[in-house]
Amino acid sequence: MAESQLVHPPLFTYVSMLTLLTIVPPFVILMWYTNVHADGSILQTFNYLRENGLQGLINIWPRPTAVAGKIIICYGLFEAALQLWLPGKRVEGPISPTGHRPVYKANGMAAYTVTLITYLSLWWFGIFNPTIVYDHLGEILSTLNFGSLIFCLLLYIKGHVAPSSTDHGSSGNIIVDFYWGMELYPRIGKDFDIKVFTNCRFGMISWGVLPITYCIKQYEEYGSLSDSMLIHTIITLVYVTKFFWWEAGYWNTMDIAHDRAGFYICWGCLVFLPCIYTSPGMYLVKHPVNLGLQLAISILVAGILCVYINYDCDRQRQEFRRTNGKCFVWGKAPSKIVASYTTTTGETKTSLLLTSGWWGLARHFHYVPEILASFFWSVPALFNHFIPYFYVIYLTVLLLDRAKRDDERCKAKYGKYWKLYCEKVPYRVIPGIY
Ligand code: NDP
Repeated sequence: MAESQLVHPPLFTYVSMLTLLTIVPPFVILMWYTNVHADGSILQTFNYLRENGLQGLINIWPRPTAVAGKIIICYGLFEAALQLWLPGKRVEGPISPTGHRPVYKANGMAAYTVTLITYLSLWWFGIFNPTIVYDHLGEILSTLNFGSLIFCLLLYIKGHVAPSSTDHGSSGNIIVDFYWGMELYPRIGKDFDIKVFTNCRFGMISWGVLPITYCIKQYEEYGSLSDSMLIHTIITLVYVTKFFWWEAGYWNTMDIAHDRAGFYICWGCLVFLPCIYTSPGMYLVKHPVNLGLQLAISILVAGILCVYINYDCDRQRQEFRRTNGKCFVWGKAPSKIVASYTTTTGETKTSLLLTSGWWGLARHFHYVPEILASFFWSVPALFNHFIPYFYVIYLTVLLLDRAKRDDERCKAKYGKYWKLYCEKVPYRVIPGIY
């Protein structure tokens, strides 16, 4: 990414990259420590760090262990094998700026289902107790932390010496290259897509596996499962199941089609996602709130409704693009803009921009139900501590920034057509407000 392509001013970009590279790895450990050893209290962790300084952080940072390594390797190899060998429909991704079209095997739903059934069966038949994962979570996160940094370094080297497709290149700045990545579609061999592995299989499936782990741990610890944990887990699993239902659609989104494979995406999906995204459940293990039937059902219905609306937004856009605008949107023919653009190889192409349905409310309205869904799977923790809400706040910041980044990218790509879209649909995320 050249400086001229950066969305934020260069100084801001470099400072935020360096901050994230240095702050986020210890932050993951502190998130685990606060939930598991500091009663979910940020204040308690803060006071501990104030009194003990850097040495205090080193003391609580679990060392990578053989058990943690084994768990990660078994899980990683299992997911890689499922990705390679489970059958799935052939799906084409979007054409990249250099005119390359990636091809995938859509077997995510099968991999996710097989993983959950295998995990529950191992527990049920007494072969492997998931509480081991919770009991070694600190070591697992620590091992993942270091291992994923090495993984990103290897990706960086691969991008230089053996890129998989035409969509690669260096910005000329080593930190930018490491952080944002060198390749858009890195693969091992012809078929093993690294971003599908890191983002969808290792990352997203862990988001289904860990809440189940937390439920089992709470059940073994207290002899029962609280309704708050149950509601949290159901909404999360509905969300993750929705993701796999729509996984081929995800291959058309910014994460896959625009963001390269570097620290930002790959480290994020290998370490940050399993820890931070599952943190409300991690908190609930030792804080079993009882909501009562009425409140529990209200939260459940609201959460599932938000997941559904988010899904329907994505579905509407993809159905519209797939049928070339020949579909119904909210029961009517869609309103649209035919936008042309030029690829980096100089070819002129056209895309359709949907301007009705959810996409007529705001240009990124789909982020609203996404954020609300995360609120509803966090709120079962009620309000004794702030930490279960960290993910909601983080997601809000991430998606508002993403909306800005996507707008800038689309403005550069579509020029006057994007301006026309902004005139027709003036709000970026929240209709009437922003
Ligand atoms: P989007 O699905 O919003 O895709 C953005 C792209 O869609 C644009 O770059 C543009 O690409 C195209 N587009 C924009 N406007 C229109 C339009 N009006 N009509 C047709 N196409 C349009 O990408 P995201 O990756 O941001 O979101 C995908 C899903 O993932 C969402 O549900 C989101 O909530 C979720 N998500 C979750 C995150 C999490 O951490 N929990 C993080 C990020 C996303 P083109 O170049 O093809 O025109």
